[in-house]
Amino acid sequence: MLTRPPLTLPVDQMRMAGRQAIELIIERMSEGEIGPVLVRRSRDDLEQNWDEPIPEHGQDLVALLERLAGDALPSGMHSDHPRCFAFVPTSGNFPAVLADALAAAFLSVPGAWLVGSGPTQLELVTLRWLRELLGLETCFGGLFVSGGSIANLTALTAARDSLLGGDLSTARAYCSTQAHPSIARALHIIGLKRDQLVVLPPDDRLRLDPARLAERIFSDRAAGWHPFLVVATIGTTSTGAVDPIEKLADICGREGMWLHADGALGAAAAATARGRRTLAGLNRVDSLTLDPHKWLFQPYELGCVLLRQPEQLKETFAMARHFLDSGYLAVSESDGREPNLSDYGPQQTRGLRALKLWLSLKTFGANAFREAVDQGITLAEHAAAFIGNHPELEAASEPGLGIVTFRYRPSGMAPGAGLDSFQAELARTVLEAGFAMITTTMVRGETVLRMCTINPRTSVRHIDNTLDHVVDCGRVLAARSDRSPANNVPH
Ligand SMILES: *Cc1c(COP(=O)(O)O)cnc(C)c1O
Repeated sequence: MLTRPPLTLPVDQMRMAGRQAIELIIERMSEGEIGPVLVRRSRDDLEQNWDEPIPEHGQDLVALLERLAGDALPSGMHSDHPRCFAFVPTSGNFPAVLADALAAAFLSVPGAWLVGSGPTQLELVTLRWLRELLGLETCFGGLFVSGGSIANLTALTAARDSLLGGDLSTARAYCSTQAHPSIARALHIIGLKRDQLVVLPPDDRLRLDPARLAERIFSDRAAGWHPFLVVATIGTTSTGAVDPIEKLADICGREGMWLHADGALGAAAAATARGRRTLAGLNRVDSLTLDPHKWLFQPYELGCVLLRQPEQLKETFAMARHFLDSGYLAVSESDGREPNLSDYGPQQTRGLRALKLWLSLKTFGANAFREAVDQGITLAEHAAAFIGNHPELEAASEPGLGIVTFRYRPSGMAPGAGLDSFQAELARTVLEAGFAMITTTMVRGETVLRMCTINPRTSVRHIDNTLDHVVDCGRVLAARSDRSPANNVPH
């Protein structure tokens, strides 16, 4: 006989499994450098363990939690490891994990005020804190979204609607080769063809070149195009370069164009005094993307889109603008004072992602965040100094926002053929050794090593040990393949 509603558990079982879940979380989050930086598993191996038939009968929850934490979940990169420098490693934080669980338990949905007044209020205040943390003017407002890609898409959709009046045929957008691929994807989704995105070569510091941009806008106008959008990258993912916002804002102002800043990686630097200097002009952009799940240490997913005139989001996304029958929504219509955040973006039902940032800011205080961001900048500069002082290492770009790129150059090896494949092979060797994780990127057409140093658990010692290790691996590799410029034999 059924004594409980379906899909519920007795309280004592919930308590037991809940305690076990917290234990597993604490264990995972206190692993630090004891745990692996990367757990490599093959598809075959994982399929053997996890490609199971749909479970027709329930199993013990505690055992399931242990099985997940012991095998599938730890497989892959541990981006919170202090020697993980690959891609953009996020560290996560404990209050944020609890916030996600609470938001799920309370079915929090900051969509319509009627449905989620408390969650909406929490999201609004978190947006305001974020604005203050970055020194943005009070006019900026927006929405938390899943990540930088969707933030870019949301902003560019508003730009299109605000400037193109429905005629996309001659529209053109501009960015540098260093912009993130999600920009091209967003333009594709909003209906621009490939030749409607002009991708300009960067200047010698890998930044969008304002003079080149102005020239191209001028010649495009003469050829009948309608330039409407410039995308500046604030912290390119490859090298951390920052496009010159002030000059780009001047051009956009003059030309009646929209300036979007993709700060998914780097906008967080504005929380620090020196970052704010590097990002001078941030308040002049029309829209801004940032990713708290990168440099504000949040677990996935948390992105954010902010507009100088947030009401422009409503003009694009408000339910009332879209003419299908929405009679069932009438009861939740907004009076403006109590906003429906579902009117500001493409999603209707949306989780309270903001809560993790709210709870971690409240737990640690804004200053802990400022210091953690600042440390990421310091570590990149420290790594750059180490590289500059080492006879076998050479910088490939100036240290950007939390990123350094460099090469290992075997003594006696000249620039030219072989050096690119050597870096790729060296990165593979480091990956296989399992001590640290670094990856490669392309700088001016050359393959180089790249480290992103934004993890707050990373110290100067972790940087030094990793670079020493890279040099050791480089020496072994150079000796093994007997690579000198003359006999660089491919294999
Ligand atoms: C990471 C990144 C993105 C994409 O953000 P997601 O959160 O991965 O969707 C966009 N732009 C830049 C500059 C990035 O570094």
